[in-house]
Amino acid sequence: MTPFSASYSPPDTEIAARLLGAAPLSAEADARIDARATRLVEAIRAESGGLGGIEDFLREYSLSTKEGLALMVLAEALLRVPDSATADRLIEDKLSSGDWTHHEVKSRALLVSASAWALGLSARIIHPGETPENILESLGKRLGLPAVRTATRQAMRLLGSHFVLGQTIEEALSRAGGQREFRYSYDMLGEGARSGDDAVRYFKSYADAIAAIGAAAGNAKLPDRPGISVKLSALHPRYEAISRERVLEELTPQVLELARLAKAHDLNFTVDAEEADRLELSLDVIGAVLADQSLAGWDGFGLAVQAYQKRATAVIDWVHDLAEAHGRRLMVRLVKGAYWDTEVKRAQERGLAGYPVFTRKAMTDLSYMACVKQLLAARPVLYPQFATHNALTVASVIEQAGGLEGYEFQRLHGMGEQLYDALLREQPQAACRVYAPVGGHRDLLAYLVRRLLENGANSSFVSVAADPAVPVSTILKRPQAWIVDARDARHRRIPLPRDLYSPERINSAGVEFGDRETLTDLISAVHLAMPRAAVAAPLVNGHALEGLRRAVTSPIDGSTIGHVVEGDAALAAAAMSAAAAGFPAWAAHSAVMRAVMLDRTAVLFERNRDTLLALLQQEGGKTLDDAVAEVREAVDFCRYYAAQARKTLAPERMPGPTGETNDLVHRGRGVFVCISPWNFPLAIFTGQVVAALVAGNAVIAKPAEQTPLVAAYAVRLMHEAGVPKTALHLLPGDGKVGAALIADARVAGVAFTGSTEVARLINRALANKDGPIVPLIAETGGINAMIVDATALPEQVTDDVITSAFRSAGQRCSALRLLCVQEDVADRVLDMIEGAARSLVVGDPRNIATHVGPVIDTEAKDKLDKWIANRASEGRVRFQRERITPAGGTYVAPAIVMLDRASDLKEEVFGPVLHVVRYRAGELDALLNDIAASGYGLTLGVHSRIDDTAEHIVARLSNGNVYVNRSMIGAVVGTQPFGGSGLSGTGPKAGGPNYLRRFATEQVVTVNTSAAGGNASLLAEGE
Ligand SMILES: Cc1cc2nc3c(=O)[nH]c(=O)nc-3n(C[C@H](O)[C@H](O)[C@H](O)COP(=O)(O)OP(=O)(O)OC[C@H]3O[C@@H](n4cnc5c(N)ncnc54)[C@H](O)[C@@H]3O)c2cc1C
Repeated sequence: MTPFSASYSPPDTEIAARLLGAAPLSAEADARIDARATRLVEAIRAESGGLGGIEDFLREYSLSTKEGLALMVLAEALLRVPDSATADRLIEDKLSSGDWTHHEVKSRALLVSASAWALGLSARIIHPGETPENILESLGKRLGLPAVRTATRQAMRLLGSHFVLGQTIEEALSRAGGQREFRYSYDMLGEGARSGDDAVRYFKSYADAIAAIGAAAGNAKLPDRPGISVKLSALHPRYEAISRERVLEELTPQVLELARLAKAHDLNFTVDAEEADRLELSLDVIGAVLADQSLAGWDGFGLAVQAYQKRATAVIDWVHDLAEAHGRRLMVRLVKGAYWDTEVKRAQERGLAGYPVFTRKAMTDLSYMACVKQLLAARPVLYPQFATHNALTVASVIEQAGGLEGYEFQRLHGMGEQLYDALLREQPQAACRVYAPVGGHRDLLAYLVRRLLENGANSSFVSVAADPAVPVSTILKRPQAWIVDARDARHRRIPLPRDLYSPERINSAGVEFGDRETLTDLISAVHLAMPRAAVAAPLVNGHALEGLRRAVTSPIDGSTIGHVVEGDAALAAAAMSAAAAGFPAWAAHSAVMRAVMLDRTAVLFERNRDTLLALLQQEGGKTLDDAVAEVREAVDFCRYYAAQARKTLAPERMPGPTGETNDLVHRGRGVFVCISPWNFPLAIFTGQVVAALVAGNAVIAKPAEQTPLVAAYAVRLMHEAGVPKTALHLLPGDGKVGAALIADARVAGVAFTGSTEVARLINRALANKDGPIVPLIAETGGINAMIVDATALPEQVTDDVITSAFRSAGQRCSALRLLCVQEDVADRVLDMIEGAARSLVVGDPRNIATHVGPVIDTEAKDKLDKWIANRASEGRVRFQRERITPAGGTYVAPAIVMLDRASDLKEEVFGPVLHVVRYRAGELDALLNDIAASGYGLTLGVHSRIDDTAEHIVARLSNGNVYVNRSMIGAVVGTQPFGGSGLSGTGPKAGGPNYLRRFATEQVVTVNTSAAGGNASLLAEGE
């Protein structure tokens, strides 16, 4: 079988045209659907307000309100807060952030009342007519928070038990035993293994569950037998597209073994569908597992297909072919999809050409029905399993199928009960399977949040069906009738990723690594794009000048990848003269004109992306993902500063008395020296240069001595874009060249990114000169901390710590250096982080599976190695990844170093070394004092579900970029303007609205318009 392949995010219109063009049903068929769906909706409505309907609960706390969100956060966090003090603060915080008053207990549904109570105040304590808000206040006083806490936990457990069939498989099996009219598919809670140990634990729990389910399965035949649902993300710590080879090698045998166990009991074994970027990978694994002859003769293997994905019908075609190729029947669960919001956000973040999912709910429904048709037609090669809680969808499926034979419905435990009870009353022969999560509360979270989010959404069927204010006719409106015209297939208020900043500018284009074809093409294009004889020479007025020639070597393997001709004091003087001479002509252009050249540079960067990527990899040692992100950042800088120039540098008419005009204009200062670092040899280099240029300055750019080739190529593209060669000059070289430039009397300003120490030297050198005091815009280092309290989600913390500390081999200014974890959760969190760090691949970044590439050079490596060795001699190294060091390269394996106090870390350790301190719940302020005492103020991370805590920390520390509940790297131009305070920099922030003006001087031109004989315009005013 060829691997699955389909366009990742094709235009919606094309698909809509195809789906809308399908033959309509007859009027009679439509009438039958209406009648059945109406009966089902009415049954749902009649039942709501009865016992325990979670739908009532969700409607009561609609997620568009603050309460809904606060509730989710509370449910999510409280389940795992180990210490009482934090739990109390969390409860207080959430109860005060919601407006509970209008949620008087009006529904009789058990769950609604239980949750409204309390969020936990138990029903015994509360009297009718009282609101949780006033009750809480008095109750808190009378009973104290501990009692409220206990009650709240109880309510959370109630919520949990509503969605979870049992904490153990035995408990779940016995509960299911009482519901003989349903088939079951058990789901062992837990997903997204972060470490090899997690994966082993989940594997065991699946294997044990299969044995237990098998033992209790009875004698019925498939499909009328129970089953198990498996998430592949639970079985491998790096279940991601870039780790494809490793996943196929390591995960396939695991899945195969579980499938064999399921086969031994003739169970239904379904692979759940997860995020879109993992679709190809999951189908690769499934294809490989199914090819194994040991599964022959078993018809229980299945997978879930998400209709909200644009590739849904292509997946079904592929699965159909797969089943035929192996001569086996496969079971296919058709769902609409549970990760919609995540998919939309991810596509926006990655700057994709389109979305992999539909953006209108009706398109998802339309796609679902197209898949239904396809699956029904594929019977008996495929056994369709229609998973939905939507009455219209159910009625449409039955009509499409012409009866109830040869397929089953599925619902989630705790949802869709009234719907399927009504259906089974009407049609006892209908088959329905319940997806039944099993597990402890600790693993419930991700699942619970998805259920609450998805079903609380305004567009979701469960929320409208239970709302009597919505007429049944609206519920019955067909997706075709919502869409009508294929041109309206996309949601109007969800812009395409490239239009995110529209109309000001277009977003930079990114790459989806989960799309194999795109990724493969990119890898080979980058391979071919590396310039054969790359040279970076001083460029003065566009002429390449001679000087000291030296080889440029790659940190990947030490090989020579080009040459640099370095400047000296004489060349610095020559560049300065040329730049000073070029300045007036360039400054005479309008800002709008100069901005055009930035926009053109952006286009040329994107057009020559592959060469830039190759250089970034070879010269900077970057992984492909980092390199793509860097090119995007550079492109964004160009377009953002162009847009800002049009906005903020344009002449501005100032208000004033009549008879005169007052115009504020911005002018270039003269010659700007831009000194950039090696860690973002393209993005920071470009950001400085184009900002200085667009503000009207001539520029001498001095790139880092480690990375002149990228810089030289970027300058070439800027010249090609129309920036005059007399305005932009390049001077490669070391610190001495920089010092020579700075010392020149003609310098009108300096933009510098690098160490605090060098920034100080530059500052002193500038101050020592006579003549005008010129601006220094410096971005320097930081001892960046992340504070994690006990309410944080350990899995999320782990992801964000690994990304923040180890991505780019820790060589970002923003990287996490100091992790501060609350004592109560520290062991668990650190174990998880260590496990995740263990699963990272360190090595040649040209290998797509590599997570951590080399550090920049031998000097950096030696310094880091020495630092780690010294900490090891103090017994402080908790973990270091075993060394996998390709010959000749400068690799440092990620390490975790334990410290006693935050103040023990006194310097910026610029590499993949994570320092960790533990703090006690009551000692947060002391910790903040320690962090502040370093004097740095660049990035700061906070992981807490308590808004109060996050606000408190933000108020106490003045770091330039604060990230709450996410990673702390990857600032986006124009979204997260970047730069710190204190020892971390002067500001203004790069990629922010205040940056450009610092590069310009201001001039106000006042003209007395009445000087030449009277104020004509005033006199011309009418009555
Ligand atoms: C038995 C069972 C197993 C499941 N297994 C999986 C699984 O393996 N993987 C998985 O992802 N999900 C799974 N789900 C969850 C499933 O995706 C949701 O429950 C389902 O989408 C709800 O569909 P519905 O027909 O009940 O609701 P409806 O309310 O009719 O539809 C909700 C769907 O519309 C989508 N939607 C909402 N707004 C928009 C919009 N603006 N544009 C496009 N689409 C939109 C939502 O994302 C959701 O998919 C499973 C569900 C069941 C019942």
